[in-house]
Amino acid sequence: MDSIISYFEALPNLPTHRAAYLFGGLFLFFMIENAIPLFRTTYNKTKHSATNIFFTLTTILVNFAMAGILTLVAWWVETNAFGLLNWWQASTLIKFTVGLMLMDLIGAYAAHWIEHHIQWMWQFHVIHHTDQHVDTTTANRHHPGESVIRFIFTTAAVLVVGAPIWLIFLYQTLSVILTQFNHSNLKIPNWLDRGMRLVICTPNMHRSHHHYRQPYSDSNYGNIFSFWDRIFGTYIIVDNSKLVYGVDTYMDKKEANNVMDLLKIPFAGYRQPVQYEQEENLD
Ligand SMILES: [Zn+2]
Repeated sequence: MDSIISYFEALPNLPTHRAAYLFGGLFLFFMIENAIPLFRTTYNKTKHSATNIFFTLTTILVNFAMAGILTLVAWWVETNAFGLLNWWQASTLIKFTVGLMLMDLIGAYAAHWIEHHIQWMWQFHVIHHTDQHVDTTTANRHHPGESVIRFIFTTAAVLVVGAPIWLIFLYQTLSVILTQFNHSNLKIPNWLDRGMRLVICTPNMHRSHHHYRQPYSDSNYGNIFSFWDRIFGTYIIVDNSKLVYGVDTYMDKKEANNVMDLLKIPFAGYRQPVQYEQEENLD
């Protein structure tokens, strides 16, 4: 345990390791999903990946630009013994497990749920949902504005949890690997997926969040741990072969694939959800 903590304490000064997790994870899942895909590729994968890599790079830039704020908050939390884990005087094991769970709850689940329920935040988050071919490169397809929103939630999580620097970097590393995993177009046998999703969010679980219409897109918000969706009643499991990716308000292929158009979406006004006469059944 101590060696894990020392490693993640040193991680802020190991930029090559951080890059390796991001791009190594992306490469690994990209290779595996190509070898064992759920949906066969019928589109220009290079162009699709290029759009998503562009947004991955803007996500890195935003986080790099604001990293100083996160370090400052982490320093303040430690100096003032602020936050739940410090008030609780939790042991290292509690900090590791409960701390990680709470970082995931506030920094990912709550952030994501709120983005779906507050109109102006949805206008930024919708870029993530416009992808009509979800794969591991979709994981970090976030408008730069959304990257700022998510950074604010992560910083709030550090304050509430009282997270030490090693916990922040452990959380961020797991978060990036899990999001690449649960967006991947990887075909996983049901028995294996069922076992894994008792604890973590799997691709079979998260994919329904990318179905083009509600209420399916308002489910399975989780990133690392699957139990937040179970606890807060947003957990569903559907037949993945029936899924249609995208978001019904932006199904025009040109609009959903052009970087400049995507960047402008948050400022172009809110599109009302499409009303359907019939309900869908994806069981
Ligand atoms: Zn979403």
